[in-house]
Amino acid sequence: MSKSPLTLYLAAPRGFCAGVDRAIKIVEMALEKWGAPVYVRHEIVHNKFVVDGLRDKGAVFVEELDDCPGDRPVIFSAHGVPKAVPAEAARREMVFVDATCPLVSKVHIEAERHHANGLQMVMIGHAGHPETVGTMGQLPEGEVILVETVEDVATLAPRDPGKLAFITQTTLSVDDTAEIVAALQARFPAIVGPHKEDICYATTNRQEAVKAMAPRVDAMLVIGAPNSSNSKRLVEVGRAAGCAYAQLVQRADDIDWRALEGISSVGLTAGASAPEVLVNEVIDAFRARYDVTVEPVETAVERVEFKVPRVLREPA
Ligand code: SF4
Repeated sequence: MSKSPLTLYLAAPRGFCAGVDRAIKIVEMALEKWGAPVYVRHEIVHNKFVVDGLRDKGAVFVEELDDCPGDRPVIFSAHGVPKAVPAEAARREMVFVDATCPLVSKVHIEAERHHANGLQMVMIGHAGHPETVGTMGQLPEGEVILVETVEDVATLAPRDPGKLAFITQTTLSVDDTAEIVAALQARFPAIVGPHKEDICYATTNRQEAVKAMAPRVDAMLVIGAPNSSNSKRLVEVGRAAGCAYAQLVQRADDIDWRALEGISSVGLTAGASAPEVLVNEVIDAFRARYDVTVEPVETAVERVEFKVPRVLREPA
């Protein structure tokens, strides 16, 4: 039986960002330098495939520092950690490497600078996400107020409405965040914002590519983990940009082929923590069922790279 034709629009950029790439390298280089096991506090990046691969090489993933023995190295994930975590590792005289993405660290530094200038912080982010927990944990309790929605802005009760600054999680929806920022500025005209957007280049670029692709396709798939903030935002951005069927899939096995019956085009992208091997797996799954023509949709070219910490570049 002949296969139906299908145009597969492939977003670019997609998949790994510089922060994820660096975090994975940090774990791999730590294993090379110190041997197994190396402990990692929280999933190094939100992707099961990546985490399982590192576990096979000798990484042990734990949720808290208390779960790590004092005599093995520990790595902090790309999302960042509250200040109390490295402080406790130092107190226990542990070897630790911080894999926090430099673009998350930039937000931490911003928060500290505003705090030093006497401003209370408003953080736009998702409650409970490790990045939000880590960023809020840079300042003493009560110094950062979390807002998740435009509605939250109305009930905000800061210490002094004239002494406020805002920061954001790096992986939010650019458009939703702009609405929350506008609501903050309307209610607190003196609020100070970041010099340069906290939402990172990778999040912005992946959302732009999805916006360009979504109106052209019958369906859109985003490869990413259910706990990956930037991947979930790509699904929402795809729907908002006009693709009614936009779904998150972890890998090819998750595709609901019945729901795709009758389509002639599909858009494919991957969140910042999803490896390219999973993109190829999904393309192969489409090729097995359709006569596929791949059309790249390139909206930006990325050349960002981050160095790993010096301790891993030095000989053991
Ligand atoms: S998504 Fe952005 S902030 Fe997060 S690790 Fe990647 S580059 Fe860094």
